[in-house]
Amino acid sequence: MSAQIRRIDLTRDYDAHRQEYQEAIENVCRDTAFSGGKYADAFDREFAAYVGVPYACGVNNGTSALHLAMLALGVGPGDEVIVPANTYIATAWGVSYTGAVPVFADCTADTWELDVSRLEERITPRTRGILGVHLYGQPFDYAGAREVADRHGLFVAEDCAQAHGAKFQGRNVGALGDIACFSFYPGKNLYAFGEGGSVTCREEAYHRHMTRLKNQGCDVAYYHDEIGYNYRLEGLQGAVLSVSLKYLPGWTARRQEIGRRYEREITNPLIQMQVHPACTEPVYHLFVVQMEERDRFIRYMADQGVECHRHYPVPCHLQKAYAHLGYGRGDCPNAERLAERCVTLPLFPEMREDEIARVIELCNGFR
Ligand SMILES: *Cc1c(COP(=O)(O)O)cnc(C)c1O
Repeated sequence: MSAQIRRIDLTRDYDAHRQEYQEAIENVCRDTAFSGGKYADAFDREFAAYVGVPYACGVNNGTSALHLAMLALGVGPGDEVIVPANTYIATAWGVSYTGAVPVFADCTADTWELDVSRLEERITPRTRGILGVHLYGQPFDYAGAREVADRHGLFVAEDCAQAHGAKFQGRNVGALGDIACFSFYPGKNLYAFGEGGSVTCREEAYHRHMTRLKNQGCDVAYYHDEIGYNYRLEGLQGAVLSVSLKYLPGWTARRQEIGRRYEREITNPLIQMQVHPACTEPVYHLFVVQMEERDRFIRYMADQGVECHRHYPVPCHLQKAYAHLGYGRGDCPNAERLAERCVTLPLFPEMREDEIARVIELCNGFR
């Protein structure tokens, strides 16, 4: 029995930078800057600079980031926002929380990202915008989405929860659309020691509105100008994220190295890879492949001590939570096919050479 290879192992990052993380946590405790405060604010400034936008609004998780972004854009009851059918469900929650309706669109058969050639057929008089997702760390066709949006007077928002540091036509994701949302859930490319998120934008009015909304609806304490939320980023998370952000470029380079090696060396014809358009630089948040006998493959890998997952087994339009919207099988065929065939291989920056080689060898040995 060979050693266990986990799909992702966060203990190695903590072991490598333990002292730095501990000092950051100690500083927050010493200053008791627990909710928002100077460490959360410092991280906002650093993250905005990293993305290349004037504003980053730190929040308590990525789902709240999506909710606030939709509110800042003025989305509400009676509105529709187009989102991909193949994403983590929280993309759609951000729309639903405002009282608006997510309208699910299919992905392409090869990039597995939003199919911009099918967007127009989803547009109705109620459509307010497109909320694209850079799924698995692979940027969606932002230029294509923008063109459709401009023709119809719509916004383009980005869900960057899986794509910190990815680029489209040489530009950072998170700085492309009208507004962009990030998650720092443990296991994302940049992660907190708990929950965290951020909304990035160029528009000062959006930033000001979101800052008020996340802070119980007030600009001045105890004077509540509108119904707000408690969506603040914790100081401890801000301090931890400031440490991690310094390592993110190195982690990203390592993810890209491992991802490209899988693409070169996994040559089993039973295994289909995601296509990365030449104008994009993916960051390999999840290394997802497609194959016919997905469940048998996952058992085969588990028997050899390698942990694989499925991201995601049910597309959003077929989730029970959205049964009332009336979608059925066949409405987003590429997303449905992906859900039935997807497997996520182990990939994280601290993976050792022998582990990478073992995953490749097992993939190529699958019959
Ligand atoms: C993780 C994720 C979210 C939600 O972020 P949380 O921080 O877990 O709330 C939203 N969208 C996508 C695509 C995600 O991967």
